[in-house]
Amino acid sequence: MVKCPECAAVLDVDEGEVEEGEILSCPECEAELEVVQTHPVLLNVVSDEDLDFDEEEEEEDDVEDFDEDLYEEEEDEDR
Ligand SMILES: [Zn+2]
Repeated sequence: MVKCPECAAVLDVDEGEVEEGEILSCPECEAELEVVQTHPVLLNVVSDEDLDFDEEEEEEDDVEDFDEDLYEEEEDEDR
């Protein structure tokens, strides 16, 4: 069973039916998905904005972790 990495919809893709480098499109979110591996099937979202999006996401994750740590320390002092 293969899931769309974009929207997590289950795609009807069989290992024997696809080839590496083949482009599929998700019926749910219409994302273009490249087959990067066939055993098991691994899909990669094809997008012009992919690189920029990844960088932004990493920065946001770092900020979130830092905030959570501060909050936990404050809570401990109160108790
Ligand atoms: Zn999708």
